[in-house]
This record gives sequence, C-alpha cells and structure tokens, in this order.
Amino acid sequence: MIIAIGQENRFEWIERNLGIEFDQWDMPVIDEKTFCSTREGVFFGGDAAFGPKNVITAVAHGHQAAISIDLYCQNEDIKDRPNPDIKLFSTKMGIHEWSYDSDVTTDIRYIVPQANKKDTLRNRKKEVELGFDLQTAFKEAQRCLNCDVQTEFTENKCIECDACMDICPTSCISFIKNEDSEDTLRMKLLVPAINKEQDILVSDILKTGRVMVKDEDMCLHCGLCAERCPTAAWDMKQFFYNTAKAGHICYV
Ligand code: SF4
Ligand code: SF4
Repeated sequence: MIIAIGQENRFEWIERNLGIEFDQWDMPVIDEKTFCSTREGVFFGGDAAFGPKNVITAVAHGHQAAISIDLYCQNEDIKDRPNPDIKLFSTKMGIHEWSYDSDVTTDIRYIVPQANKKDTLRNRKKEVELGFDLQTAFKEAQRCLNCDVQTEFTENKCIECDACMDICPTSCISFIKNEDSEDTLRMKLLVPAINKEQDILVSDILKTGRVMVKDEDMCLHCGLCAERCPTAAWDMKQFFYNTAKAGHICYV
C-alpha cells in the first residue's frame, strides 16, 4: 500500500511495462466499481483514482477498494460485491406529529458574513468568514430538506382519493394513466418532470387503472401527503445507509 499525501497526481514512478494502463491525462485506468487497475491485484483510490474530489469520496473509495482487496485475497470474484445495509423507519408519532422537523421554509440561502476586505487583504492571517450568529445559523439549519427522510407509497392501501395530490405544495404527485414512453409520462405530470437525471417513481397499476407518479426532484419531504392521506398509504420514513465493508460484517 502506498499512501499519497501530495496535492497533485504524478505517476512517472510507475514503470509503463507493468500492465497498468494510463489515460490521456496520465491517470491510471480504473474500474469504477472495483477500483482495480488494468493490472490484476493493483488498486487505486482517492485522488489517485479519478482525480481531485473531497475527503468523503476518498474514504468511500477506501471502503470499496478494501472490499475488492479482501475478495481478491480470498480468490473470490471482485465484481460479486456485498450490498450496503439499508433501513427505513417510520417517523410517524401521531396524526400530525413526526419525529423530524417538517416545516416548509421559503427562505433563500443565508450568506456567511465576511470581514472587511481591506482588513483581510492587508492581514492574510485574519479570518475572512465570520460565521453566522446564533439566530441566522438556526434559520439556515431550518432550510434543511430532510433528504434522509423518504416518502414511501403502499399501493394496496391507496383508495385514490387524490387528497395527497391536492395538498402537495410542489405538485410533485400525479395520479394519471400510464404511458408507453417515459418521456410522454414525464410531460403529462401535474408539473412536467424535466430533470431526466432524477428517476420518477411510478407505482403499480391502481384499482381505477391509473398509476401514482412522483417526481422526487420536486419533493420537499414536508410530509403533508402522509398527514393528509386517510389510509396511511404514504409514510415518511427515515433512511439509514451503511456502506458495505470488507469482510463479513453483520449489521444489527
Ligand atoms: S413530502 Fe411534501 S413535497 Fe413531498 S410529495 Fe409529500 S407533500 Fe409533496
Ligand atoms: S391521499 Fe392516500 S389514499 Fe388518497 S390518493 Fe393519496 S395515497 Fe391514495
């Protein structure tokens, strides 16, 4: 294992006849899933794998490469990888009560105040960002989109009253006839789902022959759909994700 602490990728020290291929940027060619180079048994991670990213990405690479190395050392297929541990827990505490703050705020991002530029330019040791005061920090935190809380839809509980569609503040729920083409379906939603990088959720066919379609891109995770639903077909569930680890670790 070679630990790199530099700020620039340089691989001149790797001889070019070892079977490790490099691309046009002189970066090693790496499998995005296994982190294996083109030479079996040689793995890369962090900035050395796909160029500069942040430390969280580097740690994630480390976990994935460790899984590959562990499988490789046991003569197992490094492409046959363990799944991450995923759990969803209902956050419902009462009809109108949730274990998370679901207030919808329309505040735009608060800007962190900075020290006077003349002072900071004159004195390079002076802190530029002053940080929020307590009140602004609280307001900024209230803008949290609760993306760890997910909406979950249960088809067989839905009586198709359309109440969730009415109350959703962003109109991201539509009950409509399904279409053969995803593009057509996207354009027929209450608000067309134009961001194709975000999958849309399409339910099974419901009793009236319609489907429930939700555009996650628009969801505020406010929980109003789940509060309004008379049959609890919608639930707001907290999402826990535990990345897969090398070796056979059991999660409780
Ligand atoms: S959580 Fe809020 S924004 Fe998301 S679907 Fe339900 S009502 Fe709409
Ligand atoms: S409010 Fe509940 S029962 Fe009514 S349409 Fe929405 S999910 Fe179905």
